[in-house]
Amino acid sequence: MYGLKDLKEKINITETTVECPVKDCDVIVERQRNSFKKEKRFYCPEHKIFISPSTFEYQNESDNLLWKDQDDLELFKNIQRVKRESRMVRDNSEDALTWNVFRFLEKNQLLEKVMSAILGISIKSPEIIYWSYSQKEDTSWPDLNKARTYFGEQIERSSEPDIIIKSENVLFFIEAKLIASNETVPTNLNDAKKYQEKDKELYSQLFKSNFNTVAVQEKKYELLRFWLLGNWIAKEKNLDFYLINLVLKEKEQNIENIFGQFIKQDQNKRFIRITWEAIYSQILKHGIYLNDSNKIIEYFKNKSLGYDGFGNLQKAFSIV
Ligand SMILES: [Zn+2]
Repeated sequence: MYGLKDLKEKINITETTVECPVKDCDVIVERQRNSFKKEKRFYCPEHKIFISPSTFEYQNESDNLLWKDQDDLELFKNIQRVKRESRMVRDNSEDALTWNVFRFLEKNQLLEKVMSAILGISIKSPEIIYWSYSQKEDTSWPDLNKARTYFGEQIERSSEPDIIIKSENVLFFIEAKLIASNETVPTNLNDAKKYQEKDKELYSQLFKSNFNTVAVQEKKYELLRFWLLGNWIAKEKNLDFYLINLVLKEKEQNIENIFGQFIKQDQNKRFIRITWEAIYSQILKHGIYLNDSNKIIEYFKNKSLGYDGFGNLQKAFSIV
């Protein structure tokens, strides 16, 4: 895995070429444009990566993963069975980041401590569900599937929170972001109207604005779906519901107010922004004595976001 320590601070990008970002490497490859392509002409054989002007992809998924003991890899394989799409090989993959951080918390029994400290509530017996894969059920989480069916979603295009945490008292959906923003819109507007039409009473209990305003005009389609489905499940199971937007400290700073103006919140249902950096601080506080902690701390410190338009390397996290 290559991070800030291994990568050139600046790479040379021309109209037609780009250089390998790994320090001391002379390989120059063809410049690729638009959607990322894993082709030989973009490949550095020395470092086994496919290169674009802004980022790179590893040859194998496991090159981007911190945790690959046998039980990790088995769980990872099971997740892939139900996960909708996988982009774990890209250096700036939010999925790889999510796995590396949350699997660390889970393996080291830190989930309860860390999330309780950040959110200021007590979380009891948390069960973590990665991209809808329930370890208990060994399949996609049945309660989520019920909600998907209720709102008429087709499984292949269904809502898939990055992380679900089910605890004794609260259900959490965590939508994790690294590069991407929260702006998403429906591809098929007529189809998407079902979210408001299916259960008008519930919709009006949860939202202050209509579907068109929230999902289309304000481009908060993904958050709308999570707020709706999560609350529906929580209601069925008599739990509180927290929708968590996990972002970089620098990004989406006003998202609680922006999305907050369209939804109805109370003590039992809340929308909260938290940051990767806050999780890092909690790991420093609670996890420093653990075997794996050096690995995850180094990972945070060394994580890059790839290169900006001028070929300058960007640090992922605002930490020292
Ligand atoms: Zn190279």
